[in-house]
Amino acid sequence: MEQLLHDGLTALGLPTEQIPALRAYAAMLAEKNKVMNLTAITDPAEVARLHFLDSAALLTLADFHGKSVIDVGTGAGFPGLPLRIIDPSIRLTLLDAQKKRIGFLREVCDALGLTDVACVHARAEEFAAEYRESFDFAVSRAVAALPVLAELCLPLVKAGGSFLAMKSVDSDEELNAAAKAVQTLGGQAQTPIDYTIPGTEIRHRLLILTKISKTPEKFPRMFAKIKKNPL
Ligand code: SAM
Repeated sequence: MEQLLHDGLTALGLPTEQIPALRAYAAMLAEKNKVMNLTAITDPAEVARLHFLDSAALLTLADFHGKSVIDVGTGAGFPGLPLRIIDPSIRLTLLDAQKKRIGFLREVCDALGLTDVACVHARAEEFAAEYRESFDFAVSRAVAALPVLAELCLPLVKAGGSFLAMKSVDSDEELNAAAKAVQTLGGQAQTPIDYTIPGTEIRHRLLILTKISKTPEKFPRMFAKIKKNPL
């Protein structure tokens, strides 16, 4: 894992000093995954590539330095926690609806001395009632289809900030299907950016929705409504 991370981070032009912290996180993930369902990816090389390097690639696609970032539906911490470990200037909030996963992330942050990372157990649509228009960036991977996800994430982003959705390269239809939602929620889709996870031939896509105006107060709706009638 160490060599893969070293080569991958170097290929991305990112610093390698935090590899010991990433390894400690990976060890805690592997250990906890024996007793609770955190990730289906267990091979250390795959964890390095598909969790850490996929997450780290985001640092080359947007300027996160000194910014507030919320990871919506972070699960075992991806992509948010690797971003914060590699760039300590990021002010990170990790949000998930599953209490056990947030409990795990608190343990990791305590063990790594990341005292400023907020680990929040909440549903995004409820958290947004208190923290709307609060973050420079929302990021999210593998949580919901874009028309639903946009309603969970865009309300949290400040005007001038962006919501970054990590998707597959086959996400054209999803982006088209979300066009009305994005506009209604005060967003504007930018040209998607495709990237390759270093050390692999895997191509992923970052969909960038910039917040150009405030989200109307009535959004986000309750999850049942979002799901039943996506915008
Ligand atoms: N982002 C991580 C990753 O890529 O490895 C985890 C993905 S996991 C498939 C989806 C996560 O989203 C779950 O942990 C789930 O609890 C969370 N989630 C789904 N809907 C949510 C919501 N409305 N608010 C907060 N978390 C949510």
